[in-house]
Amino acid sequence: MTALPTDQAITDLLTSGLKACGVEASVLNAGPGAPASLPARSPITGQSLGTLAADTKESAAEKIAAAAEAFADWRDVPAPARGQLVQRWGQLLGEHKEDLAKIITVEAGKTPSEAAGEVQEMIDVCEFALGQSRQLWGKTMPSERPGHKLMETWHPLGVVGVISAFNFPVAVYSWNTALALVAGDAVVWKPSENAVLAALGAQSLLAQAAAEVGAPEGLVPVLVGGRDIGDAMVRDERVALVSATGSVRMGREVGPVVAERFGRVLLELGGNNGAIVAPSADIDLALRGVVFAAAGTAGQRCTTLRRLIVHESIADDFVDKIVAAYKTLSIGSPTEDGVLVGPLINEGSYDAMQAALKQAESEGGTVLCGGGRVLDDDRPEAHYVEPAVVRMPAQTAVMESETFAPILYVVTYSDLDEALEIHNGVPQGLSSAIFTSELAESEKFLSRSDCGIANVNIGTSGAEIGGAFGGEKETGGGRESGTDSWKAYMRQATNTVNYSGELPLAQGVEFL
Ligand code: NAD
Repeated sequence: MTALPTDQAITDLLTSGLKACGVEASVLNAGPGAPASLPARSPITGQSLGTLAADTKESAAEKIAAAAEAFADWRDVPAPARGQLVQRWGQLLGEHKEDLAKIITVEAGKTPSEAAGEVQEMIDVCEFALGQSRQLWGKTMPSERPGHKLMETWHPLGVVGVISAFNFPVAVYSWNTALALVAGDAVVWKPSENAVLAALGAQSLLAQAAAEVGAPEGLVPVLVGGRDIGDAMVRDERVALVSATGSVRMGREVGPVVAERFGRVLLELGGNNGAIVAPSADIDLALRGVVFAAAGTAGQRCTTLRRLIVHESIADDFVDKIVAAYKTLSIGSPTEDGVLVGPLINEGSYDAMQAALKQAESEGGTVLCGGGRVLDDDRPEAHYVEPAVVRMPAQTAVMESETFAPILYVVTYSDLDEALEIHNGVPQGLSSAIFTSELAESEKFLSRSDCGIANVNIGTSGAEIGGAFGGEKETGGGRESGTDSWKAYMRQATNTVNYSGELPLAQGVEFL
């Protein structure tokens, strides 16, 4: 643990990142005259970064209207030409990888390596989407009628609304946007109120790319604001698809509103991820996989490992090793070299963590390490914690919901069926893992894990953009990025073309 940086050091880091991405630092100077405003702060020091002018419901509606107009032009641009926009965006992100990463570090508290990894993910998905722009293919199939052609074709959907969470402030936007743009859609983005600056940085680079390739104005606006502005977008009938990433609570609010107006929804909600460690596991590898997945990003990934299910024959020894490894983790400002665990996003997260630990103890759990606050003498407004390991007698109520903080609950099992039952016995279904050297165990796990992501001999976090990302049950069922996800941003039509000169009806029906 080292001392936290000064306010000035954080401001300098932010300003250099913003400037290089084409965002004026003056965006943080919204005065009392602004119709709406939003505070910005850094979790590293807890300091205020300034105040942003925010959208009102009226200005949000205007941006959505402009996006709908831009869509009318953009859908007629050939898809491979639309690919040029994401290609250029990817190039600009490559040139400004470190600049955008600086803003992410300041605003979300990620280490430079993780922040740069997030930008790399954006670059990767731009490359992926460029390729996809030549592969928006439909199918043709034999018609039952002579002289007829039958085919399925894909068409641009409309305006896509993206809602994103603080912990992946820009990558999730790019998963949606890169594919939606090649699909021919306009994209309106309501980023997290805790990470607007990173959003402005990413969007500024996209706006630059859009201007360079001559894309219509208003195609990719950002709505600055909190839940109320997100809600206004969700209710807007011009938004054909709402792709929303965040907590299960948010999904429960957004899903029914979109369903009521028969809009489409893509939900990427909270996880409560489990890993099984079998007796045959390579213990050193499992240890590294578990510690990264559980304590990395200070437990603030949707894919963070929260439930460890260890075979009873190796549990004591394995848990000792985890506790020993946790004691070596360096906690502090992500701006310092060697720091692996940065801050929690805010006081609310800290309070939720303390409440969960208390509940775990009341349900028979024993806190083996961590949970305490550190560096609070230095900066009381910043919230740093030691990642916690809690041994539980069984999977109890506290383990059934996601606490967005670094708590790893450990339970034991005696046979794989029991482990799978524990594993699947929570309402969420995002990511899962097994550590084993036995083929039969790994195959059984892959077919029985009820999650959208199931891994063998790697942890629950750290997905690649090539495979579809998303989860089942309360995680919402959405899929982003990966092979088939482009279809979510398009509408499918079935076309029958009759070149026979006759009018035979399907199923042999006679009429006239
Ligand atoms: P959050 O639910 O508080 O907010 C997420 C976004 O939803 C924000 O932009 C917020 O303004 C908006 N929002 C909230 N209520 C809304 C409403 N009623 N209408 C419209 N918009 C609304 O989540 P958070 O604290 O920013 O992020 C952490 C959560 O996100 C965790 O639960 C985490 O697991 C989840 N998450 C999931 C994924 C995934 O891909 N499954 C990825 C990242 C984060």
